[in-house]
Amino acid sequence: MYTPGPVEVPPEVLLAMARPVIHHRTPAFAALFDRVRRALAGTFLVPGEVLVLAGSGTAAMEALAATCLREGDEVVVGVAGRFGERWLEIAARLRLRVHPVEEEWGRALDPGRLAEAVKAKPKARALLLTHSETSTGVLHDLEAITRELAGGEALVFADAVTSLGATELKPALWGVDGVVSGSQKALMCPPGLAFATLSERAWELARRPGGRAFYLDLAAEREAQADGATAFTPAVSLIHGLEAALALLHSEGLESSWNRHHRLTAALRAGLEAAGCQAISQRQGTACVAVKPPPGIAAGAVIAWLRDHGVTIAAGQGRLAGQILRVSLMGRHDDLDAITALAAIEAALRECGAAIPRGAAVAAGWTALAEPWPVGAA
Ligand SMILES: *Cc1c(COP(=O)(O)O)cnc(C)c1O
Repeated sequence: MYTPGPVEVPPEVLLAMARPVIHHRTPAFAALFDRVRRALAGTFLVPGEVLVLAGSGTAAMEALAATCLREGDEVVVGVAGRFGERWLEIAARLRLRVHPVEEEWGRALDPGRLAEAVKAKPKARALLLTHSETSTGVLHDLEAITRELAGGEALVFADAVTSLGATELKPALWGVDGVVSGSQKALMCPPGLAFATLSERAWELARRPGGRAFYLDLAAEREAQADGATAFTPAVSLIHGLEAALALLHSEGLESSWNRHHRLTAALRAGLEAAGCQAISQRQGTACVAVKPPPGIAAGAVIAWLRDHGVTIAAGQGRLAGQILRVSLMGRHDDLDAITALAAIEAALRECGAAIPRGAAVAAGWTALAEPWPVGAA
């Protein structure tokens, strides 16, 4: 499975989830939850707490927005792909006053343009954006964007669903006020857990009356989770799995994981380009490589051939549906996995009629992997 979520779950994680389900109002659960939340804080690199919700990543997006924002609040939304559009949809449901800043899909959001847009709306409460845009493979420059906005009134809320664990993310250092993520991407768990962490400024917004969230009310979760519990019944088995997954991540080291994801993704991209594919992303991130197949080759046929041979890659989303392939090495992958993925895709492209020499993608992948990777260049 080479998809940008869900990713393959390591056996250590599967085994941890096979443990008996413990009751969640017990000292044993409180101890487990405390260990997991500490490890999460060390993954988000925030001094405060990380809240754990039962739900997919989108639950945390909606929870963050519904907890902190109120009907009529102005927000600026950076949109350059399907997940940026998701913020727009959530904001519309919450009846926020939305000012979208759109960028062509495949391009990175322009920090200067975003900052201008926020300055032009002095009442804007927040800027909502995606860190790693999984529909195009683009990594937006969250650090540069927060630097442009520093000192302003607007808070920054980032969807870090496919950046957490896979690329450099330092919300406390950069000044990101709300960060959300999910379990089934670089955290190598099954789908079903969502995470959110908020700055003090974000909690101040949340204290205003008029909040509409009930199940997704992060203020209620904050109170419960401080006492080692959750407001509602937690996904206990997934939390057991998450403990094992975070242990794997931290035994490798967060920075090593970021570097590995960058290196493998660079090799994947080089290989796909050598096979005649055209990458969409003009600022390649680590979640996936999104490519147009060579001219005349149908993306759907390539995906179907691979599926028939036991390999799963992802299709395009939204306006790129049916046009592209998305291939990901998020999670626990190594050099050989990158090459294996390339060998499979190359075979599929040839079977679907692409005139590419056998071995072209694999050779380019090995060449990219042989290049020295700059230390700390995540
Ligand atoms: C996967 C993903 C989400 C969450 O999607 P769910 O289906 O709710 O897990 C959100 N944002 C990005 C960028 C993603 O890749």
